[in-house]
Amino acid sequence: MKGICILGATGSIGVSTLDVVARHPSLYKVIALTANTNIEVLYEQCQDHHPEVVVIVDEHKAKIFAEKIQNTPMSDIKVLSGAKALEQVATLDAVDSVMAAIVGAAGLLPSLAAAKAGKIILLANKEALVMSGAIFMQAVSDSGAQLLPIDSEHNAIFQCMPAGYKTGMQAKQVRRILLTASGGPFRETPVDQLIHVTPDQAVAHPNWDMGRKISVDSATMMNKGLEMIEACILFDMTPDQIQVVIHPQSVIHSMVDYVDGTVLAQMGNPDMRVPIAYSMAWPDRFDSGVAPLDIFEVGRMDFQEPDLERFPCLRLAYDAIAAGGIMPTILNAANEIAVEAFLNETVRFTDIPVIIERCMQQFEATVADTLDIILAADRQARLVSRQIIAEL
Ligand code: NAD
Ligand code: MG
Repeated sequence: MKGICILGATGSIGVSTLDVVARHPSLYKVIALTANTNIEVLYEQCQDHHPEVVVIVDEHKAKIFAEKIQNTPMSDIKVLSGAKALEQVATLDAVDSVMAAIVGAAGLLPSLAAAKAGKIILLANKEALVMSGAIFMQAVSDSGAQLLPIDSEHNAIFQCMPAGYKTGMQAKQVRRILLTASGGPFRETPVDQLIHVTPDQAVAHPNWDMGRKISVDSATMMNKGLEMIEACILFDMTPDQIQVVIHPQSVIHSMVDYVDGTVLAQMGNPDMRVPIAYSMAWPDRFDSGVAPLDIFEVGRMDFQEPDLERFPCLRLAYDAIAAGGIMPTILNAANEIAVEAFLNETVRFTDIPVIIERCMQQFEATVADTLDIILAADRQARLVSRQIIAEL
């Protein structure tokens, strides 16, 4: 029986994780659930899973929640608030596995705390890794933590790696990685129409049902840019070893190309419960609740090279990793601010790469060898991006 803490329980990945947990009550016990503000969903999750402790980052909402569970069978659930409490629950002794599913930079400190505490980390929060790369991987190796990727592509790659492979290792037999991308909702929209894209259109992903931020990232393909950086860090590869492949059917979740000419692909229906269940059962396997792949219904699979003119965010991600140092942190922070502004209808869809590029131009790619440097770069890039938006 393993104890699990789900950081970001009320989000898309959190909900899918609890769906898998519910299928295996003899293998997993929910110790901690966390939310930013969504106490309605958290309340239902507590009814179903009865954790020992919850964190609601928002203090006011935490108070309301604590009152709401009084005089119910849930009154023994401990309610904490504030960002620091996320780190506290991710490192509890009763917690063996931590699902890191907070969106954005807010997930960095609790995910890193889990890494330092030697937990099994199921990492969905790619932004944390993009920001802290080497520091994160060092923390994992120092503590003996186990880092399993949840991002479907990285989970696919991990599954296609040689036997005994651990994240962070260099696999010499591997020539390159083929990182698949759906191309999002605007794969074929005329480029001159992209200026008119609305938030609702951008979050309507053709194949995956995800949170709003990652859905916009998929539409700009910044998601693939972040994933390219994530793959370099997780699998100790260089950017030129990662080929992004547009595969609109989203059936192959990525491929590993070996030196002997073998290419291994992992396939399945596009449902995040597959990589979640794989990582929860690892090194074994168990039921995820996902229907078997109907290969005849899939019928055909297409592959295209991405167009960097249509998707400038992908180019910016290659620029950021080539520059190194704090630049991936700057890229990520500027993207978070730009996407938020787009979702609030303050800027246009096509302003997103403009804001990020202008922000990156304001920084030197100085060394990012401490957490303080990374957090300071993140803060400054947010200020600069807001300034750029104000001046647009
Ligand atoms: P989401 O927006 O649906 O959920 C985000 C979760 O994070 C919520 O529980 C929310 O309460 C919490 N949260 C938000 N801001 C917070 C803050 N400041 N402090 C603490 N908690 C906060 O997002 P999602 O789609 O579930 O994505 C979560 C992560 O997983 C992201 O990093 C995303 O890139 C990654 N991911 C998601 C998918 C997917 O299919 N949804 C696939 C691959 C990777
Ligand atoms: Mg992905």
